[in-house]
Amino acid sequence: MTMNNQDQSTFTGNKALQIEEALSFEIGGFDRTGVDFPPAEDRPNRLGGLGRDSEIGLPGLSEPETMRHFVRLSQKNYAIDMGPFPLGSCTMKHNPRLNEKIARLPGFADLHPLAPQACAQGALELIDTLAHWLQELTGMPAVAMSPKAGAHGELCGMMAIKAAIVARGEGDKRTRVLAPESAHGTNPATAVQCGFTVEEIPGDATGRVDLAALKEKLGEDVAAIMVTNPNTCGLFERDIRAIADAVHDAGGYFYCDGANFNAIAGKVKPGDLGVDAMHINLHKTFSTPHGGGGPGAGPTVLAAALADFAPVPYVVHRDGEYHLIETESANSFGRLTAFHGQMGMFTRALAYMMSHGKDGVAQAAEDAVLNANYVLARLKAEITPAFDGYCMHEALFDDRFLKDTGVETIDFAKAMIDEGYHPMTMYFPLVVHGAMLIEPTESESKRELDLFCDALLSLAKRAKAGEAETFKAAPVYAPRRRLDETAAARKPVLRWTPAANAAR
Ligand SMILES: *Cc1c(COP(=O)(O)O)cnc(C)c1O
Repeated sequence: MTMNNQDQSTFTGNKALQIEEALSFEIGGFDRTGVDFPPAEDRPNRLGGLGRDSEIGLPGLSEPETMRHFVRLSQKNYAIDMGPFPLGSCTMKHNPRLNEKIARLPGFADLHPLAPQACAQGALELIDTLAHWLQELTGMPAVAMSPKAGAHGELCGMMAIKAAIVARGEGDKRTRVLAPESAHGTNPATAVQCGFTVEEIPGDATGRVDLAALKEKLGEDVAAIMVTNPNTCGLFERDIRAIADAVHDAGGYFYCDGANFNAIAGKVKPGDLGVDAMHINLHKTFSTPHGGGGPGAGPTVLAAALADFAPVPYVVHRDGEYHLIETESANSFGRLTAFHGQMGMFTRALAYMMSHGKDGVAQAAEDAVLNANYVLARLKAEITPAFDGYCMHEALFDDRFLKDTGVETIDFAKAMIDEGYHPMTMYFPLVVHGAMLIEPTESESKRELDLFCDALLSLAKRAKAGEAETFKAAPVYAPRRRLDETAAARKPVLRWTPAANAAR
């Protein structure tokens, strides 16, 4: 068994209750099994020569070994259920257990996506009810439910925009999409995927879109702008109406990245801001578990001008019944997914909305903004805010406070791990040097926020007191220290083979 352990101070390599966990292949044996099968009866082989003639190669572990292996692995994941998860832009909020209970009801959880519609009326009603809430909260007349993530919702919205432009006969003419330099990477990626070229809109000194610079870039070749509001600096785009008007006057569409909807849900309707299309990350704003890869759900609301181009399928309520419409739309740009979207996420999101009510959704947004401003106010004496003034739901800091300390954002983040905190979002948005983006969400209590702020303030003071060595060494208490994340991403080892294992 290779432990690859950096600190051999214990015989096992374990550190107190942090247990080293090898692969099941390393702890199990191929000659063993944890299962008792009755001896095979002597029957004629009907596999026609397709029977396996080599070892199956599955590791054999006893039942308790198997259980412990997977429980220990599950404990290696940091989770919102373990402590604050201040990842800016990701809205890592509490996932109420009620949502889980509802999503596991067999009527929802066990329904086959190809079940006849007459047998799935409840599920279709749920999709329709959630669609209604999303339309109400955003003030938009249509919503495509099938996109399976925020980025997928962007693709849906931009494909609808593309289809509308082609229908206007301007497909060859309108080839440019504008996005602020602070945009999330998925925005330009989506635009390029749809065949557009992307141009950056510069920001102004307050961290917002520079309206004059935007107007200069507008023209008859602009298909759309993609703007996040509140933006990725955690700031409300105050000129949002003027931005929408300018784009519409130039004949373009306004795609809004709705990932930060948590700050304004129940307070501001994007439809009132002139938005033409916006995805909603149900897994962020409406509390479905995420991180570690999903699943997500990115329903995309559409203005009347784009509604006709929405993807199939969609649900309609007609003659007292719910129908999943698969084909009946002449202008639809097509289909984005098999079936109808992420049913489990729909169920959780609707459970969250209905248990909070309209006033509760608005209060969650208010509390999220209050918490972020509390963090900003408590930290700003020691940790430099990137911009002046209040923030929305996330507080953005830069690395000016670390100047001449020898400590960088990455070191600061690693030292947070030793203090028992998952680091905030680092080095995003790119417009801010050494960015640290903290989003506490409404979930955190004042006690939790105070402890978090005290920990960060103490780290900032230690960095300024010349303790760079400690920061460069951090994390010292984690089971692994600093990993070569680039190599892990570029050359992932996804397959275990006995030979490779022996060579290690
Ligand atoms: C999370 C996020 C996205 C992408 O959403 P996914 O669900 O991860 O695909 C896009 N834009 C912003 C600003 C985000 O925070």
